[in-house]
Amino acid sequence: MARSAKKYVYFFGNGKADGNGKMKDLLGGKGAGLANMTRLKIPVPAGFTITTEACNTYFESKKKYPPGMWEQVLSNLKKVEGAMGMKFGDAKNPLLVSVRSGSKFSMPGMMDTILNLGLNDTTMKGLAEKAGDRFAFDTYRRLITMFGSTVMGINRQVFEKALERMKADRGIHLDTDLTTDDLRELVGTFKGIYQKETGKGFPADPLQQLQLAINAVFSSWFSDRAVTYRRLNNIAHDLGTACNVQAMVFGNMGENSGTGVGFTRDPSTGQKKFFAEYLTNAQGEDVVAGIRTPLHIDELKKQQPSVYKELEGIYRKLETHYKDMLDIEFTVQDGKLYMLQTRVGKRTAAASLKIAIDMVREKLIDKKTAVMRIDPVQLEWLMHPSFDPKASVQVIGKGLPASPGAAVGKVVFLAEDAEAWAARGEKVVLVRTETSPEDIGGMHAAQGILTARGGMTSHAAVVARGMGKCCVAGCHALHVDEETKSLTIGSRVLKEGDFITLNGTTGEVILGEVPLVPADLSGDFHMILKWADEIRELGIRANADTPADARMAIKFGAEGIGLVRTEHMFFEGERVQAVREMILADDTEGRKKALAKILPMQREDFIGIFKVMNGLPVTIRLLDPPLHEFLPKTQEELEEIARDLDVPFQKLQARNKALHEFNPMLGHRGCRLGITYPEIFEMQVQAIMEAACQVVKQKIKAIPEIMIPLIVDVKELSVLREMTVRIAEEVQKAHKVRVRYEVGTMIEIARAALLAHEIAPEADFYSFGTNDLTQTTYGLSRDDAGRFLPYYVEKGIFDHDPFITIDRKGVGMLMKMAIDSSRKIKKGMKMGICGEQVDPLSVEFCYEIGLSYVSGSPFRLPVARLAAAQATLKRKMKKGLSKASV
Ligand code: PEP
Ligand code: MG
Repeated sequence: MARSAKKYVYFFGNGKADGNGKMKDLLGGKGAGLANMTRLKIPVPAGFTITTEACNTYFESKKKYPPGMWEQVLSNLKKVEGAMGMKFGDAKNPLLVSVRSGSKFSMPGMMDTILNLGLNDTTMKGLAEKAGDRFAFDTYRRLITMFGSTVMGINRQVFEKALERMKADRGIHLDTDLTTDDLRELVGTFKGIYQKETGKGFPADPLQQLQLAINAVFSSWFSDRAVTYRRLNNIAHDLGTACNVQAMVFGNMGENSGTGVGFTRDPSTGQKKFFAEYLTNAQGEDVVAGIRTPLHIDELKKQQPSVYKELEGIYRKLETHYKDMLDIEFTVQDGKLYMLQTRVGKRTAAASLKIAIDMVREKLIDKKTAVMRIDPVQLEWLMHPSFDPKASVQVIGKGLPASPGAAVGKVVFLAEDAEAWAARGEKVVLVRTETSPEDIGGMHAAQGILTARGGMTSHAAVVARGMGKCCVAGCHALHVDEETKSLTIGSRVLKEGDFITLNGTTGEVILGEVPLVPADLSGDFHMILKWADEIRELGIRANADTPADARMAIKFGAEGIGLVRTEHMFFEGERVQAVREMILADDTEGRKKALAKILPMQREDFIGIFKVMNGLPVTIRLLDPPLHEFLPKTQEELEEIARDLDVPFQKLQARNKALHEFNPMLGHRGCRLGITYPEIFEMQVQAIMEAACQVVKQKIKAIPEIMIPLIVDVKELSVLREMTVRIAEEVQKAHKVRVRYEVGTMIEIARAALLAHEIAPEADFYSFGTNDLTQTTYGLSRDDAGRFLPYYVEKGIFDHDPFITIDRKGVGMLMKMAIDSSRKIKKGMKMGICGEQVDPLSVEFCYEIGLSYVSGSPFRLPVARLAAAQATLKRKMKKGLSKASV
């Protein structure tokens, strides 16, 4: 007996669905949404979803359908016919279908859609009988265009040009002014184009059309633009897309029909009001492609109040069901409302916060869900600058405020120019008549996007919001001439390279460069972070080198300082001269003399930092960089030092040469300096401890954690620990106060990580210096790798740039070994990280491997706090799940 084939096709229609809303992996977001809406008894045209698994098998088996899939398509097509009371390919009452892609994660406009499948010369007559000749010919020419371009790869422009030619001939501007005879002629012309371009006639067999369309949707998963989108959005390439085949309903069947898209709340501000647009007598593609600018949803309310009322009821029902802000697509066919799609709506960072907080207040979700809902990367966008309100601006045009924020840059007209200019460090604004998915790379590279056409839900608007990029769309006064690379806006002409500024919050287009001011963070921002702090278990510290940095750190929620890079203090003002004097001195006495000048300055710095931190721990690292960083670079600087020191120039020049290193980052730096020139570290310890004693005397708590950099062997730490303790004790004795201090080390060389269990007894704490640990584990220069790492990431050789996101596999393995082996010796030993990798993925990893805290630049702390809370919640959810499954 034949075994029944695996289920590859899921039906929905007439209030019943094989799938459900949770099956996003298998049915994609769109398929799961359609199944869910159908189950909720919301009017949805019947259809079926072919699974992502079928798509993946299709690729694995060299573009062959998995066994049984096509038979399931045919039997489900029968069910759709039953539900709609029409027949696919029928001469009298033909069913037409749409075929659309839909993966687990929404990828707006990235993959393929084909509408009106099932039309041929015979079925067209049936359609004409029901809906009129004009409608039937119009639908037929749309099918040939879409099928020809999407499935057969004919350049869409060839069809568009033929259409434009006909309109010019007839002296008309709008498609709707074309007569039935015009459209009949156009169908003939388009068939001719199809034949010429493909060498074949347009397929008359509806089932063949369907099969080719399904193949095209599957294949669009690996189209260049879809691959690029996934790379930019960290979406895995092996998820595959589902394929939704659904009965067509028509928004272009007259004045009682129309199409709309919308959001259940305002996607820009988060305000709780229905935010939708509607076009009478139009098909969805007209809206999405920005061909016609849609009108406010009030238009529908005026024209068909009962349909509007039904729509209101449905969107409310959906929002209560999904407990989130949704985007919806709908069509009204001759007075009957159909929902075509719903999914969680994309929104700006500010809207994300407002919606999450409002929904907690409305008791739709709890605080934990709200915290999980905020994308930490989005939170970072809120910290971006906006316009200086005092700046005088010259507004030269206005469009729709499609994605908020500010963008200043030079005008470019092509996506590839945006990428090329940005690659050479220029800030650009991409100006297009309208954007298309091919422009994605250029949109990413640009500071902001300005379009002449399209509404709030056009491609430009949706993609820019998703990217957190400022966008002004549908600026009608704007005319773009790609050929001459110029634009006209009102009476003004701008050329490529001229400066322009966009205000995505008001929709204003402004001439020239407007100064920006730092972000003003709202109450919502602080509220979410407060909730995140209540949840997270991982500590948050800041890398800060000055009292001003420390104040910023406190403002952004630091619970201590995880790294003071003392060398940054060495560069300030006149200090660098004293430092150079110290380096170029040829004996200990000379060095000590120079160090004596630096000591009081360092002490003042530390006093300032301790006071700001007011009892929170402060990890201070002793001098780390290779000395060559301080050496004079020019002849004049060397001459100046020779004069100041009163030593012959030649002698100093010889010493300068002698200090030259071929590989300074692997050379005389870190603890190696402290071992060879102990007086440098001694001075620093003295400055730290004197500062702490003075602060303590003023009744302010100070907790210095003195940190030794770049050790590779426990003996280095033993020697330097002994020195540190000796000086620290002397200073306390002299000041007659006790200070709680600790001595620890950085783990930033692979050997130290491997031998951490030997180092632990000598260290009160560790801080992983993942910049150097990455550099030395990979053998990649952290200062030069930027030239080729992006290429590695683009080609998928590395998943991430390891200097941005911790490499869990290699560097992470060393960290884990060091943590586990050391805590075996010292239970609960304090360990943190102070490298630059504090992006959400790295923060999650740090939490997973049991670090006590992460430390990063103050501006990155809000993201780290949120990511840390999410990591805690994820672990709890996982634990809950595994308990439930026992
Ligand atoms: C590190 O190496 O990760 C670190 C924090 O130190 P620096 O970047 O100063 O070398
Ligand atoms: Mg380092």
